[in-house]
Amino acid sequence: MTETPGDRPAAPSSLAPATLAVTAGRPAAETGNPVNAPVVLTSTYRARPGAIGTGDDWSMVYGRFDNPTWTALEEALAALEGGGRALAFGSGMAAISAVVDLVPVGGVVVAPRAPYSGTAALLAQLHTSGRVRHREVPIADTSAVLAALAPAASADDPAPADLLLLESPTNPLLEVAELPALIEAAHEVGCRVAVDNTFATPLLQRPLDLGADVSLHSATKYLGGHSDVLLGAAVVRDDALYEKLYGQRTLGGALAGPWEAWLVLRGLRTLALRVERAGANAAELARRLQGHDAVERVRHPSLPDDPGHARASAQMSGYGAIVSVEVYGGAEAAERVCAETRLWMHATSLGGVESSLERRRRYPAESPAVPDALIRLSVGVEDVEDLWADLSQALDHSRG
Ligand SMILES: *Cc1c(COP(=O)(O)O)cnc(C)c1O
Repeated sequence: MTETPGDRPAAPSSLAPATLAVTAGRPAAETGNPVNAPVVLTSTYRARPGAIGTGDDWSMVYGRFDNPTWTALEEALAALEGGGRALAFGSGMAAISAVVDLVPVGGVVVAPRAPYSGTAALLAQLHTSGRVRHREVPIADTSAVLAALAPAASADDPAPADLLLLESPTNPLLEVAELPALIEAAHEVGCRVAVDNTFATPLLQRPLDLGADVSLHSATKYLGGHSDVLLGAAVVRDDALYEKLYGQRTLGGALAGPWEAWLVLRGLRTLALRVERAGANAAELARRLQGHDAVERVRHPSLPDDPGHARASAQMSGYGAIVSVEVYGGAEAAERVCAETRLWMHATSLGGVESSLERRRRYPAESPAVPDALIRLSVGVEDVEDLWADLSQALDHSRG
């Protein structure tokens, strides 16, 4: 049977996120087209004749400017974030750095006191060098954040903030920021707002719909989902902001490789399944962990007594698959748990199909606000009974 090329109506634009994860970023529905975006390995493109000036289309001129495999991934990410334009970067940190780079010299960045450790280290370094002024806030305390955004005239440093760099839920304390209120207050003082949406993924939280200017991702984690790739992304709706970040990526050079973009796009196709299964496993394990003798505290926003539960229920459509536990007996006991698991992999990073765990304070850059005995669990998609059997036996060994 033959089909007429190019005669298919576009898929409906009101598709659910789980459907968009499957459909977005594919080649046009024309006869003979591949169903998947190809990996385009090229450093340059055949040129159009003549001069290229400002205002001209610079796409597909040189490999640092654009790549069709990035474009496919970017289309899919923007669709998942509810519309806008996405930019792929070489890593989550590259995307975060590009956003921070837009802050004027000496400008103020307000950020959680305990964000992802790389973000904390980056801001500390930029503060020390005088590049930005970094104000750390307890991110779940809305009034403290508001005070840091627009300090009283009598404050030591009354300058309003230039960038509110949010992360919610935070890594690894799972603190939940009151996103709508913070975003609105920041905009009132002319402050840009970026939200690191890595833990939630666009399936559970859409920062741009809540008013944020930028949604940031370490696609290394859930979007890729298989612990085989590093990549980052920024998604925005404002064209002027897109151009600034595009310029930052092009000149900063923190690019994703085409293979990496392809792997993340491949991972995205199963994002909804993975997030659903891992999230269900995480909520079940969090509940069981609360009843284990070796465990002092469990953090997961699904738990009705978690400080972030009400907020997460209001602004997210699920609770994610990271669970943090504090064991009795301090760092040593926590290290023993990490050494005793067989199925759970003792490794850093998170968001893969496989369950992994680590004690976060083993890193010097980790915030002192993170308890010494805190183990961050990245819950995967395995059978929950197997996960519980291995984790509970490891916890039984925590006291040596
Ligand atoms: C891992 C992580 C990052 C950094 O991402 P990379 O891809 O490793 O550069 C940023 N934010 C959060 C919340 C993360 O978990």
